[in-house]
Amino acid sequence: MKFSAGSLNRFFFLSFIIFYWATSGFARPGIESPRQFIIQPYGKISKALINDVYQRIKLINPNVKLNSQADLPISAYYSPRGRYRADSIIHYLSRKTARGNVIIGMTSKDVSTTKGEHKDWGVMGLGFRPGNACVVSTYRLSKKNLTSQLFKVSIHELGHTEGLPHCKDPHCYMRNAQGGNHLEEETDFCRSCKSYLRKKGWRL
Ligand SMILES: [Zn+2]
Ligand SMILES: [Zn+2]
Repeated sequence: MKFSAGSLNRFFFLSFIIFYWATSGFARPGIESPRQFIIQPYGKISKALINDVYQRIKLINPNVKLNSQADLPISAYYSPRGRYRADSIIHYLSRKTARGNVIIGMTSKDVSTTKGEHKDWGVMGLGFRPGNACVVSTYRLSKKNLTSQLFKVSIHELGHTEGLPHCKDPHCYMRNAQGGNHLEEETDFCRSCKSYLRKKGWRL
């Protein structure tokens, strides 16, 4: 079979269009390109654990970067309880992060925030809704299922940064912890949360 220069040009042009359509978020109607996720490990948290969670997040958003370990900001330390303020950490992270990216801090230290009449309430994680920063802690997680629990808390907080509120479905990753650890009952995002995040470019 012979190809004229014109038909070859058309072939390359068409291939380019198909490649662009297949790889670009813009070409899929109603679906945004995912923001870049940045993982920031803090202190002595296990590198193997961070790497496992990083690999799992990467399946949802390949646009993810793993930073090298750093120290938690001293300004977030709450000496009366010997723990770190999650709200201070996310403000600190937010200031350091470019618009259009989202950063997630990961620590083994206990973190807390103000909740109603509780001035200093320990949490598994905290994130802006919507926003560009969140933090998660392994302190209150089950050591038996640490990787999957840290993954679940991480995508819960990342879900908040995309704008998702808490969800009433007890099996959904966006369930409100309300002071407990129900992560073993959470199996996936529910249909409605999943559909919201898919529009944000998450591969779910
Ligand atoms: Zn939440
Ligand atoms: Zn849900």
